[in-house]
Amino acid sequence: MTEFIVLFLLFYTWHALGVTIGYHRLLSHRSFSCPKFIEYFFVLGGYLAFEGSPIWWTAIHRAHHKHSDTALDPHSPRFGLKQAHMGWLTAAGYPEHICPETQTKDLLKDPIYKFLEQGGSWKRAHSLVFLIGLTVRAVIWLCFGWVPALASLLAGFAVLQIPLMLNVICHIPKLGYKTYASKDDSVNVWWVAILAMGEGWHNNHHASPGSAKTGMRWWELDVSWLIIKSLSKVGLCRNLNVTSHARMMKQMPQAALVLDSMPKHRKAHRSKAMVRS
Ligand SMILES: [Zn+2]
Ligand SMILES: [Zn+2]
Repeated sequence: MTEFIVLFLLFYTWHALGVTIGYHRLLSHRSFSCPKFIEYFFVLGGYLAFEGSPIWWTAIHRAHHKHSDTALDPHSPRFGLKQAHMGWLTAAGYPEHICPETQTKDLLKDPIYKFLEQGGSWKRAHSLVFLIGLTVRAVIWLCFGWVPALASLLAGFAVLQIPLMLNVICHIPKLGYKTYASKDDSVNVWWVAILAMGEGWHNNHHASPGSAKTGMRWWELDVSWLIIKSLSKVGLCRNLNVTSHARMMKQMPQAALVLDSMPKHRKAHRSKAMVRS
C-alpha cells in the first residue's frame, strides 16, 4: 500500500506539473522558454493525464482568455455548470471563432503536436489520447507490475479533473476572492491552488496571463512557479516573464483591490494592511 501511495503521489506531481507548466504556462502563454527536452518532459506528463491534443488544449485556453465569461468562452459557468465542466467537451469540433491554424501557429510547426491534433478532429484526437494513455499503462504493467501501472492510471485520471474543475470553481465569484479587478468572474481559490500546483490563483492569472508566476501574495503558494524558478537557476528555463503584486498595482492602476468580493476574514486583514500602509 505504501508503494502504491508513493507512486501515486509521484505520478500525480508529474502529470499535474505537465498540465500547469507544460500545457498552460509554456505552450498556451509562452511565459518562459526552455530546451525541447524539458518542454516534452512536461507536455508528456500532461498528455498522459488524458489532457488531449496540446494544440487543441492551447486553442481552447487562448479562446477562454480572449472571451472570458462571455458567450464565446468555451467553458464559462455563467452558461451552466454541467456545460462548463464537461458538456463543452462533447462538441464535434471547434466552434467558428476558434481556429487553431491562426491561433496556435506556433505549435503547428511541431510535427508531434500536429500529429496528436489529428487534423482538427476532436473525436480522433480524444480517442488517440486514451489509446496512447492506456497503452503506456499496459506497458508499465508488463514491465513493472500492476502497482505502478494502476498508480499511474489513477493519478492520470485524478489530474484530468484539475483543469475541468478549475474552469468551473475558479469562475464562480462566491467561491473565492478577487485581488485584481479583472473584467471576468475569475477568483483565487486556495484549495484549488494546492491541488493544481498553484493554478488556483486564477484571478491573479487572468489579471496577468503572461506571467510565469501566479501566486502574488506571501500566502499564495505556487508550486509550479517554484519549479520554473528552480529550473531557471540551473539554466533549464530562460526568458521568464514574471510580474509581482507591487508591479501590477503600479502598472495597472485599474487593478484596484476588490475588497467586496473577498471573504470577510481576509477583507478585515486587507483593510488593516491598507490602513497601515
Ligand atoms: Zn479562467
Ligand atoms: Zn491561462
